[in-house]
Amino acid sequence: MSILIGFDIGGTNVKYMCTTDNFEFLEKGSFPTESEKGIDCIINKFLAIHHQVENKYEKKVLAIGIGCTGPIDIETGIIQNPYTLPGLENQIFRDKMEQKLGIKIYIDNDANTAHLGEISKNKILIHNSIMITFGTGIGCSIYINDNFLRVNGKKHPEIGHTIVSTSNTNEKCYCGKIHCAENILSGTALNRDSRKLFGMTPEQVFDNPNTKEKEIFVQNIKRALYEVVLQLSIIFEPEEIIIGGGLESFYSQYLIKDLKDKISSMLPVFGKTNIRTSLLKNEAGSFGAICTIIENQKRKEI
Ligand SMILES: [Zn+2]
Repeated sequence: MSILIGFDIGGTNVKYMCTTDNFEFLEKGSFPTESEKGIDCIINKFLAIHHQVENKYEKKVLAIGIGCTGPIDIETGIIQNPYTLPGLENQIFRDKMEQKLGIKIYIDNDANTAHLGEISKNKILIHNSIMITFGTGIGCSIYINDNFLRVNGKKHPEIGHTIVSTSNTNEKCYCGKIHCAENILSGTALNRDSRKLFGMTPEQVFDNPNTKEKEIFVQNIKRALYEVVLQLSIIFEPEEIIIGGGLESFYSQYLIKDLKDKISSMLPVFGKTNIRTSLLKNEAGSFGAICTIIENQKRKEI
């Protein structure tokens, strides 16, 4: 038996999971990302987990999979994300880890790894699906005819900064726009806007939208989500769209029903896209990072 480790690097926390090479669960955990402390700091935390599990289970770690927020060039392994991972931008994480450990390290965007986790977990064979992750920012992974869509530089497709028609703020996103999806639907935006406008958490506003201003705030968010999902449905005709990420439970509780109703009302043209929340919830990224190891090794064998 060998051990596989999956790390899921988010803007705030790193989650990890360890399994055997037969996917038997061993353990999971998390620690603060603290990207601003630089690449050596986060690598040392990874090495500590690696050594800890090798000692605990008295087995070798075979390989490590990493899902990382933001654009990742999977060929060079370069992290291109100065916005949610300051301190790690333009770093070649993978090569540094491989040099230190002498084992294979596989890295991909965290939406792709979470999506791969969902595809691997879901027993129903789906050939075309999209996963949108809502957390500090918005991630997107598009799986078409059994392959992940990769754009220039083998990166994942970006939807976070596409245009929506509504906004709850006059503040610009770091992309320079006010009306972008991330500037209304990300956890950063939801918290910023609800606190600034009402001095409340987003949950408190959604639980009791008892003023016209609160109702507009809620409707703007529902509208922006519908626009993003509808456009993806029209362009790619996926069999399903999976909603996940750190805000999965918030979206599940307050937004998914309304979204499903709106998309279903487009029947029969666009209603064939099923919308569901992540089966793996906040473990999708770390489990999917382990699946990335298997996928890459299978590809190598072919
Ligand atoms: Zn933006």
